[in-house]
Amino acid sequence: LRFLMSSVLPCLWRGKYFSSGNEPAENNTVTPMLRHLIYKIKSTGPITVAEYMKEVLTNPAKGYYMNRDMLGEEGDFITSPEISQMFGELLGIWFISEWIAAGKNAAFQLVELGPGKGTLLGDILRVFSQLGSLLKNCDISLHLVEVSQKLSEIQALTLTEEKVPLERNAESPVYMKGVTKSGIPVSWYRDLQDVPKEYSFYLAHEFFDVLPVHKFQKTPHGWREVLVDIDPQVSDKLRFVLAPCATPAEAFIQNDETRDHVEVCPEAGVVIQELSQRISLTGGAALIADYGHDGTKTDTFRGFCGHRLHDVLTAPGTADLTADVDFSYLRRMSQGKVASLGPVEQQTFLRNMGIDVRLKILLDKTDDPSLRQQLLQGYNMLMNPMKMGERFNFLALVPHQRLHGRNHQTNARQSKPSPSPVAGFGELAWQ
Ligand code: SAH
Repeated sequence: LRFLMSSVLPCLWRGKYFSSGNEPAENNTVTPMLRHLIYKIKSTGPITVAEYMKEVLTNPAKGYYMNRDMLGEEGDFITSPEISQMFGELLGIWFISEWIAAGKNAAFQLVELGPGKGTLLGDILRVFSQLGSLLKNCDISLHLVEVSQKLSEIQALTLTEEKVPLERNAESPVYMKGVTKSGIPVSWYRDLQDVPKEYSFYLAHEFFDVLPVHKFQKTPHGWREVLVDIDPQVSDKLRFVLAPCATPAEAFIQNDETRDHVEVCPEAGVVIQELSQRISLTGGAALIADYGHDGTKTDTFRGFCGHRLHDVLTAPGTADLTADVDFSYLRRMSQGKVASLGPVEQQTFLRNMGIDVRLKILLDKTDDPSLRQQLLQGYNMLMNPMKMGERFNFLALVPHQRLHGRNHQTNARQSKPSPSPVAGFGELAWQ
């Protein structure tokens, strides 16, 4: 069992606040990334917020995600799988429940986008082992989509047996390969496109919020894109400006848009289209969990460093940058190829998955007061609407056939449609 290292949880997680980008600068450090960006802007002009975010987070040499471990108490933010083992366990049950509902395929790939420290997969695999008799004839493989060298090494340490050496090939789309402690083959990729197009279950937890967003402001002259430029008043400082005229990215804004400021993440759209295409062709499902909104919020771009809000333009490369996920945009990008469920709030999803029963079982198993306290604190953090219970949402993509079972016909005399047959979005029922 994995428990929290300390009974004191950091009080800030990434989902809590959103910034106007106007927080006071904490320091004026000229980071290598800042120098690089100033040079770039001086030579080719202001850059879009999307380009800024992409450079700052995933530039191969200096990007925030590339060479550090930012997760956990010592890092910059904490995520649900790092808070409680129950989170991953219940997600593991979700995948098994979908695998059973779809007819217990003889094999499946479990594909995770942005696996962090590999903690979530570790918890899911423990559930798979515990339900070994159910899965014993199923051929499972793991596929991790990760751009960070540093995090892929941590994932390998979490998941694989050191006795079996990893195969590495930086030139190949599969840049690392190994075998998990329970004997499951695991491969690492930088891009979802390279994962074999086989029957798969896909998982993305706090992945979409780090993908680059374009930002637009409505002005009397129409939509104008927000750009990042050098501040002419202060040396080595960046500032936001509005593009003087319309930019091509404006095409991403819906014609009937009513907000006066919008963030659009075309890369998220590309990933959703790829997932939808794959699921419609081969079956399987995708589970997406993140903090976000349903096409209602405006300015959510923000930075995190050492569990505190951080000005997004200060000391770039030293802080995480993130924007709330627009779930309405994700659903739109699935283009009807698959059925979507949700978004539902994390507290609803986890309750439907049986978190209360799981908590009771774990509490009954231990007499250690500090472990019991950690379990209760973890539960509170995940479920409390004032904490992560409401801000985080779950969205699932499933093949259309999955919802056309006998149990899901809407009865014309009922005012409400029958409950969802997909666990988490309705109550879990083993079939
Ligand atoms: N899912 C984990 C980690 C979330 S942090 C958790 O919940 O704890 C975001 C993760 O996405 C990190 O692993 C980061 O390295 C990875 N990442 C960021 N941008 C990416 C990209 N463009 N492609 C693939 N992975 C990316």
